[in-house]
Amino acid sequence: MKRQQDDKEEKKDAPSSVKWNFLTDMDGVLVKEDKPVDGAEKFLEELQGNDINYMVLTNNSIFTPRDLSARLALSGIDIPAERIWTSAMATAAFLDEQNPNGTAYVVGETGLTTAVHEAGYILTDTNPDYVVLGETRTYSFEAITKAINLILKGAKFICTNPDNTGPAPEGVLPATGSVASLIMASTGKEPYYIGKPNPMMMRSALRAMGAHSEETIMIGDRMDTDVKSGLEAGMHTFLVLSGISGVKEADRWPYRPSRIIDSVGALVGHTDNPLSVKDSDKVKD
Ligand SMILES: [Mg+2]
Repeated sequence: MKRQQDDKEEKKDAPSSVKWNFLTDMDGVLVKEDKPVDGAEKFLEELQGNDINYMVLTNNSIFTPRDLSARLALSGIDIPAERIWTSAMATAAFLDEQNPNGTAYVVGETGLTTAVHEAGYILTDTNPDYVVLGETRTYSFEAITKAINLILKGAKFICTNPDNTGPAPEGVLPATGSVASLIMASTGKEPYYIGKPNPMMMRSALRAMGAHSEETIMIGDRMDTDVKSGLEAGMHTFLVLSGISGVKEADRWPYRPSRIIDSVGALVGHTDNPLSVKDSDKVKD
């Protein structure tokens, strides 16, 4: 009996034979208010140095991956454009899969128009297959009116992400979900949301990086989006306490992540065997 137990212990601590992949949220995990999170640079260095497959996720559809990579570099975080997966790219991948070489009327910024265009779509306001709504800082009444009328004429309504608000220096600002509500009220049509918490976002990222869900760790700072959709896409999930959620927030939900850690810094030295990392001491308090 004793021997069996020892074997078990040994197995638990033994280096894993799995080659782990990492999907990580961006805000609150790697950067916070344009500053790198403690340990984020070391964590990314370890992934890059050990040739570990990873992808950084964001519901932000404003910027192209190249723009985001340059913005992160200004914050001291080095992530190549090809390691960034946005809700705009997930939306473009969805459109391409559903209806290759279709047409769309896009309300959004270059992050979205570029992704949809690169997926082989024609951007038009004449009888498009889809109306695609993303984030912008300059919503035009004219564009929204056009979107509403195209949807009423039969265009399918797609939205990059359901977030109702985003952070702003003065408090919050209305985000994509709020504008979707406006269009919904005028048309009676609900959009299909692609970004988190839709696991579609995770699955398309996994496909883009060529990884299997069961060998992938999803790292995020939100229980209701990152952990929920990570779980639903079949991944191991790590909640970090460096962003929006504290330990108490984690306890409020009927599901729990595989691990709760202070920040991605806790993974430094363990990226080859991430499940060997223990919960943060804060969990026991
Ligand atoms: Mg976040």
